[in-house]
Amino acid sequence: MRNVLLLGASGSIGTQSLDILEKHPERFTLRGFSLGKRVHMIPDFLKRFPSVEYLCVSQAEDAENLRKKYPNLKIYHGDEGLVSIIEECPCDMVVNALVGFAGMVPSVTALRHDRILCLANKESLVVGGSIINGLLREGKGRLLPIDSEHVAIAKLLSCIKREDLSRILITASGGSFRNKSRAELTHVTRDDALAHPTWSMGAKITIDSATMMNKGFEIIEADVLFGIGVDRVTPLMHAESYVHSLIELRDGTLLADISKPDMHGPIEYALMETEVDFTPVKAKSLSDYAPYHFHAFDPERYPAVGIALDSHRRGGNSNAILNAANEAAVYAFLENRIPFLQIEEEVRYALDTLPFMAEPSLEDLIAVDKKTRRVVNEHIGG
Ligand code: NDP
Ligand code: MG
Repeated sequence: MRNVLLLGASGSIGTQSLDILEKHPERFTLRGFSLGKRVHMIPDFLKRFPSVEYLCVSQAEDAENLRKKYPNLKIYHGDEGLVSIIEECPCDMVVNALVGFAGMVPSVTALRHDRILCLANKESLVVGGSIINGLLREGKGRLLPIDSEHVAIAKLLSCIKREDLSRILITASGGSFRNKSRAELTHVTRDDALAHPTWSMGAKITIDSATMMNKGFEIIEADVLFGIGVDRVTPLMHAESYVHSLIELRDGTLLADISKPDMHGPIEYALMETEVDFTPVKAKSLSDYAPYHFHAFDPERYPAVGIALDSHRRGGNSNAILNAANEAAVYAFLENRIPFLQIEEEVRYALDTLPFMAEPSLEDLIAVDKKTRRVVNEHIGG
């Protein structure tokens, strides 16, 4: 039995994680959850999970009202509240489904307190990969990724001898503008960008998929998780999102993980700590998903991938600048303050402008995050 704390319960990954917890009542007890501003979802969650005793929300005012409504619950708020709920909720597993840099300190806190961390928040790994790997090396906690490509890669790597691995092929749908040229991206709108062709996800990752900054982040994530080096991870365009990733062996053999695009599968694999039966697809059922299309990734069509990988190669605080600038620019686009193509320009501007720091501490990363957002928002103006 695992006592679980779910961070980001109201989001796309959060609500699907609740489905998985509900599916295995013999395995999981939900002891606490957090959400941001969508407090109207709380009554339903408490009805479904009467075991919950700990709750965290973003706003102080919401927390105050909730304390009156639910005097038996321990209620926290804000960034400090997220740290306190991890420390005080008697849980052995933390599911981090927060979006953006807000998930970084919670990931580190969970590992410092020896929790099993099921991690959807890829920004934690992009910004704080070396801090997180440092904690894991010290034997603090355990990390299980939730991102579908990384679950696929972990499954496939578990089938082979590591020395047989040549490279990883990480698949990419190409996002909502995959059928448009760069010239056609000049006037695209927020609503066009939010209509992802194959996945239903939160707004920020949907925009990251359209720029393919998401794939840049995922290649970095693969390096942090599997220690493979970004040059041995190749993006491969695959419109249908059925093949979640492939690995290529030294003799040229390709192994693929294939299933319908539904995050319940990867979430279940992580929460069940990989104790899920998975059987290789039989040849005849391959046709269930046909046709499959693959084509080569074009770095000029999606420059965000190159920007992300250059930043990762530079190391130090670069990925903190990369992530913060991207977040600030994505939210500016979502608020109609900048056009789509300016997202990449703002990220480049921030990486060129902010000072390099070779070995940042967690506190340094928090300061770099704040400063980068300020610099980008000042540059955007308005
Ligand atoms: P959503 O935007 O749907 O959900 C984000 C959650 O975090 C919500 O519960 C939100 O609360 C909460 N939240 C947001 N900002 C803050 C903050 N500053 N403080 C506290 N809570 C906050 O995101 P997704 O579920 O789509 O994505 C979550 C993570 O998973 C991301 O890192 C994403 O890259 C990754 N991921 C997502 C996939 C998907 O299919 N969605 C697939 C693979 C990875 P509220 O809305 O109540 O304000
Ligand atoms: Mg993914």
